[in-house]
Amino acid sequence: MTIPLSRPPLDDEIKGAVLAAMDSRQYILGPECRAFEAEFAQYVGARHAVLTSSGTAALWMVLKAFGVKAGDEVLVPAHTAFPTVEAICFGEATPVFVDVDDSYTLDPADAAAKITPRTVGIVPVHIYGHPANLSQLQELTSRFGLWLLEDCCQAHGASFKGKKVGAFGRAGAFSFYPSKNLTVMGDGGILVTDDDEVAARCRRVRDHGRLNKDVHAEIGFNLRFNEIQAAVGRVLLRRLDAMNDRRRQLAARYGERLKGLPLTLPVEQPGARHVFHLYVIRTDRREALAQFLKAAGVQTGIHYPVPCHRQPAVEHLSAPALPRTERIVREILSLPISAGHTDGEIDEVAAHVREFFRA
Ligand SMILES: *Cc1c(COP(=O)(O)O)cnc(C)c1O
Repeated sequence: MTIPLSRPPLDDEIKGAVLAAMDSRQYILGPECRAFEAEFAQYVGARHAVLTSSGTAALWMVLKAFGVKAGDEVLVPAHTAFPTVEAICFGEATPVFVDVDDSYTLDPADAAAKITPRTVGIVPVHIYGHPANLSQLQELTSRFGLWLLEDCCQAHGASFKGKKVGAFGRAGAFSFYPSKNLTVMGDGGILVTDDDEVAARCRRVRDHGRLNKDVHAEIGFNLRFNEIQAAVGRVLLRRLDAMNDRRRQLAARYGERLKGLPLTLPVEQPGARHVFHLYVIRTDRREALAQFLKAAGVQTGIHYPVPCHRQPAVEHLSAPALPRTERIVREILSLPISAGHTDGEIDEVAAHVREFFRA
């Protein structure tokens, strides 16, 4: 028996929603998509939500709507999924890599030190489901006249000082990739914003730059979304808070059972509400522990072993020294967690981890 890293939800309510959407004979950007957008915007507390084909597409469309151009510098943590950086590069801007703080999110002090006259904005990543320090980042963006685009792809429903992530920046981008906290049986993404113009521009870009059926105002692309997947997303959005509560319960369970071991456990910073997209521990014996758990039938992951500033795709940018990032990427290990895991599975994983350190 293998304990998977993540177990996405699947049941009769979800299947029923899929069949009903099929029966409607509308497939793209129809009533299910419109309802999902309205419900998601309300959930986050933003004026607009725009569905699209992936989290990467959501990030890129926002950057295009912000008007980023060649030569613009965008501050971004190197410790993130590569798509965060890819969207910035695809938007022709230059990523400027920033180190992380103790919550593994973008360090505001290092960000401040890297602001130049060419800096236009900051893309913090609420990695693993933990919000970045949004108070300090908002202070920076207002002091230097920068925009803030939150990468919320791992943090649906996380909040900071009582407000949902995605509602702090000029926009926020989310992914529905199957392992994420909110998913849609395939690829998908959504962006949120209070800015009417940004929302309108993104709606246009996602559908070939179209103003109406026959007139194209700009070069966009096909980044639309589907009815069947929107129907799934609507069912799971209604369960998101309960699923996140469940993740938090399981994280607390890990915390109790892993106490006292020579490990660094995840922390929750003051004001932050963590939604544990991933449960990431740190040890300098990471490889051996991963092998041990694999042999015991426990799947683990490393998110991410190669930091973005070291990726061959961006080797033309001179990689800065990021000591905390370089250190943590050698030590991090993601243990199984999702709303679909049982207490027993978490206990079993924790028992194997204890056994490893006893040996
Ligand atoms: C998953 C993810 C993305 C990309 O989302 P896709 O839907 O896979 O395109 C971007 N940023 C982060 C932090 C992610 O975890």
